[in-house]
Amino acid sequence: MNDQRTAWIQTEIEQLKEAGLFNVIRTIESPMDAWVTIAGRRVLNFCANNYLGLANHPRIRQAAIDAIEKYGVGPGAVRTIAGTMSLHVKLEERLAAFKKAEACITFQSGFTANLATIPALVGKGDVIFSDELNHASIIDGCRLSRAQIVRYAHNDVDDLRRKIEETTEYGRRLIVTDGVFSMDGDIAPLDAICDIANEYDIMLMVDDAHGEGVLGEGGRGIVDHFGLHGRVDIEVGTMSKAFGVIGGMVAGRKEIVDWLRQRGRPFLFSSAMTVPDVAACLEAVNLLEHSTELVDRLWANAEFFKKGMRELGFDTGQTQTPIVPVMLGDAKLAQQFSRRLFEEGVFAMAIGYPTVPKGKARIRVMNSAAHSTNDLELALAAFAKVGKELGVIS
Ligand SMILES: *Cc1c(COP(=O)(O)O)cnc(C)c1O
Repeated sequence: MNDQRTAWIQTEIEQLKEAGLFNVIRTIESPMDAWVTIAGRRVLNFCANNYLGLANHPRIRQAAIDAIEKYGVGPGAVRTIAGTMSLHVKLEERLAAFKKAEACITFQSGFTANLATIPALVGKGDVIFSDELNHASIIDGCRLSRAQIVRYAHNDVDDLRRKIEETTEYGRRLIVTDGVFSMDGDIAPLDAICDIANEYDIMLMVDDAHGEGVLGEGGRGIVDHFGLHGRVDIEVGTMSKAFGVIGGMVAGRKEIVDWLRQRGRPFLFSSAMTVPDVAACLEAVNLLEHSTELVDRLWANAEFFKKGMRELGFDTGQTQTPIVPVMLGDAKLAQQFSRRLFEEGVFAMAIGYPTVPKGKARIRVMNSAAHSTNDLELALAAFAKVGKELGVIS
């Protein structure tokens, strides 16, 4: 083998390391929970999107085990070929009811839900208006569609309107935005965007990955948060964050959901969620429908943590949700901060380019209902110590 032809990879990796942008992936030796074991040590976990602590919830574990006993493990093939299991149908019905939508379709992940949806709705000659900070899976879905992509300034409805007015040649039109922006924790002004979509008669799609199980009554998501039921055409979501499992969903108008069963490529060409995944997600819906306790605790924890961080003098950006960006700017400083926190027993990741813009590196703290008040106090103490040591706060 001639390794000359791949020597460029080593060069690229050296450059990433130089810039403090090389991802070191920690190995977790325990269930994903408020505390995790890494290299034999128990550390406080502030990295997971496990907002409600469902990833290791006893009822969800049991639901997955019971379903395996009854239905086995795998779906066998794609649903249009091997048939769809009753469990998947049940999950889709329950999700639609939970989200007060006409219908729902599930996918393997939130990522594939976006890759399925956008190219099924628009194609060559059409136009997509996309928030400049939209998630990578939306960007990839837009690219796959081959429609023209017009980016508008982040959460800026005036710019969105300007871009719509300026774009005069189009077939079909689609506006797409994240609901909650995952690196900053701010919320899209979906009510105002919805008004614009109605005014210009443009299809509207929101990706509510970080709003599912977090925003709205009992975690029903961003459409519920703004009271926009029936006014947003497509609500994409994920079950790999607050639901604690894995899987994507698209809730919305029945004709769109029916269309995705015919034209969503990851639905037609990739097998469905596995049996234990579906059963676990069904139990997550049961838990959420039964009580708002976990969602309430998540928000109370997040408020407690944010207040503590602000009192210490940290810059927590524009967050309106349990996502707390601790803004540091320099990528190397963020990595050093994360390393020192880890030594203090707190696992919180540094995030740099290309996940966030250059010069906007940060530690991203994910709050969870699984944390106790004592956990949050331990974390605040560690942030205070490391922040002073590195000159971030005084
Ligand atoms: C996490 C995320 C996804 C991907 O969801 P998965 O289920 O993990 O594939 C898609 N969109 C947004 C906005 C996300 O934050």
